[in-house]
Amino acid sequence: MNPARPVRRARAALRRREDWEQEERERLAPWAVRSAESQGRVSAETEHPYRTAFQRDRDRIVHARAFRRLEYKTQVFVHHEGDHYRNRLTHTLEGAQIARTIARSLRLNEDLAEAIALAHDLGHTPFGHAGERVLNHLLRDAGGFDHNRQTLRVVDWLEQRSADFRGLNLSVETREGILKHGCHWEHPLPVPARRAQPSLEAQVSDRADEIAYVNHDLDDGLRSGLLQAEALVDLSLWRESHGEVRARWPSAGERMLRARTIVALINRLVTDLVETTADRLEAATPADVEAVRDTPERLLGYAPSLEKRLRELKDFLFRNLYDHPHVVATTREAEQVLAELWRALHEDPNKLPDSVRARFAEDGAERALADYVAGMTDRFALAEHRRLVDSDARHA
Ligand code: MG
Repeated sequence: MNPARPVRRARAALRRREDWEQEERERLAPWAVRSAESQGRVSAETEHPYRTAFQRDRDRIVHARAFRRLEYKTQVFVHHEGDHYRNRLTHTLEGAQIARTIARSLRLNEDLAEAIALAHDLGHTPFGHAGERVLNHLLRDAGGFDHNRQTLRVVDWLEQRSADFRGLNLSVETREGILKHGCHWEHPLPVPARRAQPSLEAQVSDRADEIAYVNHDLDDGLRSGLLQAEALVDLSLWRESHGEVRARWPSAGERMLRARTIVALINRLVTDLVETTADRLEAATPADVEAVRDTPERLLGYAPSLEKRLRELKDFLFRNLYDHPHVVATTREAEQVLAELWRALHEDPNKLPDSVRARFAEDGAERALADYVAGMTDRFALAEHRRLVDSDARHA
């Protein structure tokens, strides 16, 4: 480097896609996915001059309308319950940054893991899993409803941002990661072939999602008062992390201790995950990503004892938070709102926007309606319910 001539050299130093691809060849592990070796997109496109295939996928996902709608979709707490609770957007961002840390530490493709993590909840209905259950029931004779399947529909079919192709035209590897467990349903585009496992980058995104929600649901549960800190001491993972933090900051207040305990817990999970996975990779030495896809058991995982303790923590969350009477009551209300909204629109399709009715011929009326309802944010669903259902009831 000659510091006397920085400007003139900047042009030559510009990083182009080929430089990133070369850098991936040198830096990533043999079992990582390399962007230059991507299996491509459904509609062939010219590669970008300075972004790799997966960097481009990530950018398309962030620019999607469905991504912006995540802000007003429920994680556990409905948005009007408070400004500090996670919604699907902040959940997604927390998951994506955990995915990047794990991928980077294991010398996997960070851009791919991030793209999958950013996309993973795009197909979620309003009101979390309550909405998914309602739609699955309403569509029981028309193919059902599942949020992973819907996520693939969003990126492959429903987002329309290009005159050249339908959907976002993401690369096969990103779509493989979104699909997770293969495709058992009708899909308008060819789907990535089902293998024993998806890539390690897809496995990372799955685990990062879990680390994110377990920890932020604990945090939000405690903040809301639905979870009691005293009840958590029965859980060894919490107890040890909390003890560690208390020993380090003996005079810190309970609120600070709680925040630091969540940090310690995330750190413990991520550290165990990358170290255990590194050991397994060392033992299995898959030659490349194809060998990863053929491995009967997932290579990415925790030590058995930690896996067991994480399961205890998740069971605790189910019993005490997701099945808490307050959450259950909100869930019931949400189910009713969505079912009534569906019925109103199903009985009178004239109440639907023209753009939705225009899709009836191609997608079928029920699937087009499901896409529309699933895409709604919580607050839009509530507003439409007030407009279409409550006002009818008043005039009856
Ligand atoms: Mg998620």
